[in-house]
Amino acid sequence: MTAVTGVAGSGKSTLINKVLPGFYPNITVVDQSLFATGIRSNLLTYLGLSDDLRTRFAKANHVSPKLFSRNSEGACENCRGIGVEKIDLAFMDDIEQPCEVCSGSGFKPEVLQYLYRDKNIADIMNMTVEEAIVFFAGEWYTGTFEILSKLGLGYLSLGQRLDRFSGGERQRLKLTKELKHSNKIIVLDEPSTGLHPSDTQKLLDFVDALVDGAIR
Ligand SMILES: [Zn+2]
Repeated sequence: MTAVTGVAGSGKSTLINKVLPGFYPNITVVDQSLFATGIRSNLLTYLGLSDDLRTRFAKANHVSPKLFSRNSEGACENCRGIGVEKIDLAFMDDIEQPCEVCSGSGFKPEVLQYLYRDKNIADIMNMTVEEAIVFFAGEWYTGTFEILSKLGLGYLSLGQRLDRFSGGERQRLKLTKELKHSNKIIVLDEPSTGLHPSDTQKLLDFVDALVDGAIR
């Protein structure tokens, strides 16, 4: 691990963004910027696990996987799958409240009768990462959940919208994805900005474990 630090104007950004890529073209910069995703993306879609989950529900119930998508046939017709209704207040910013038809799940009520291992799709979207580690124990992707947990993100729910993530959460989530690609140089741009001190400690512990080769 190499830390780059210095006063403003000392050339840190030039070193990292211009000089370093000249030597190592494949570096990855992980910062806190927004994902290029909209209101319909959530933690599971970001991790690339949504299709797998829909297929499980479809197979268990002998119905179409599209029923288990809030962007497709499964979408609540009242809120179009978003789970919230916007209330237009003439002189103030719009406020959002949970949709009264689907109670915020975003799914058509009839979709919730279909179960996978005694849970409906909304139950699974409401599961935290910690709960998912137990529920999906032994599955190939629980390693990703375990990395999220080690980074202090075990409290996130699987269906949490990406646009609701804080900057620190976004950065750690991106890191989870980057770690899948080995043999790379990863640059963390101001990784502790916005983090609670206890989360900073978790991040440091995680980086220590990476350097020791304890996490791959
Ligand atoms: Zn709804």
